[in-house]
Amino acid sequence: MSGKPKLRDSVIVQHDGPEVVFLLTGSRVVKRFVVNDHVLKMIPLLDGSRTVEQLCDLVGPGSREAADEVTGALDVMRRERLLSVVDGPADAVPPDDADLERHDRQIRLFQDLCDEGLSADSRGIELQRRLRRATAVVCGLGGVGSWLVQGLAAAGVGTLRVCDFDRVERSNLGRQILYSTSDIGRLKTEAAAERVAVIDPQVRVEPVTRRITSPGDLSDLIAGADVVVGCGDQPSPYVLAGWIAAACMSSTARPAPVPHIVGGSYAYHVGILGTTVIPGTTACWQCVRAETANDHGREGLETIVARRAVGAASAPMSGLVGLALTWEAMRVLAGLPPALANSWSELDFWNLRVDTRAIPRRPDCPVCGG
Ligand SMILES: [Zn+2]
Repeated sequence: MSGKPKLRDSVIVQHDGPEVVFLLTGSRVVKRFVVNDHVLKMIPLLDGSRTVEQLCDLVGPGSREAADEVTGALDVMRRERLLSVVDGPADAVPPDDADLERHDRQIRLFQDLCDEGLSADSRGIELQRRLRRATAVVCGLGGVGSWLVQGLAAAGVGTLRVCDFDRVERSNLGRQILYSTSDIGRLKTEAAAERVAVIDPQVRVEPVTRRITSPGDLSDLIAGADVVVGCGDQPSPYVLAGWIAAACMSSTARPAPVPHIVGGSYAYHVGILGTTVIPGTTACWQCVRAETANDHGREGLETIVARRAVGAASAPMSGLVGLALTWEAMRVLAGLPPALANSWSELDFWNLRVDTRAIPRRPDCPVCGG
């Protein structure tokens, strides 16, 4: 084994009689090993500052037996994903790099996800760089979109293309925390751009003030995007989701079909997290709708009274949905596996439970099948 072994930051080590207990906080898995004195002495030294040879010398100077035990234990620890895959201190951030300093804690999280084997990259810092290079499109800057824009800006996504046609109203301010009282009457796109510049001036904002009325209205909006998140409610969340999905899956989407997260919304007691579509890999919006359009026994019923034009809402509901979708968008941009793909997820606001229903890709789907 080469390099300087480092115990993962998220692993808690405890001593229990003859056993050492490793608690993996990411997966909540507990691993127990009976260890000898040499290994027990080595574990606190695994901070990424020492080579294997130096560890052997410290644990048992000149002892062949100690060296064999140390290298054997390190092999086991690496197999069990107890060590960081980065050689040397993973958290060594150049003090003069303000961007890395800003995102230091997030890079540590990304590093741990890499160590867990969840990324094709081995270094968390590379995931952060992916975010900085990425373009995310947010369609709808209301209850969900305003949290999303704030979250993506704080996370360090390089370019945010934000689309809405509306102006800030006083009744928005109770839950749309991107805006403040002085923004009343301003275009949401302008107010959002100004707010993002305050959060992180390095984030580029491209405001698009437009009412979306068809998939065609999205073609320039999604061009070159790495992810599109649909979180508007005009004319309805599902109609908008359908338009976004059609534009993103279209053969004219440039330079290729675009990953999209659609359906995000909320009403009264339910937050809709929706679904994530990775073109060519996951079930598409048509597959999801085929499974969910007739949920709640609607098939064959005729609507007499639809839901009210003004729905109930609160900041926590907006925030829970918006920030869940922020994390999902970050995963897509960073190249981590999405959580909401091949499924439909709803958040029960009262019980704080996420109900997720698996939705497979249909082999005969005209959009994603075959
Ligand atoms: Zn499909």
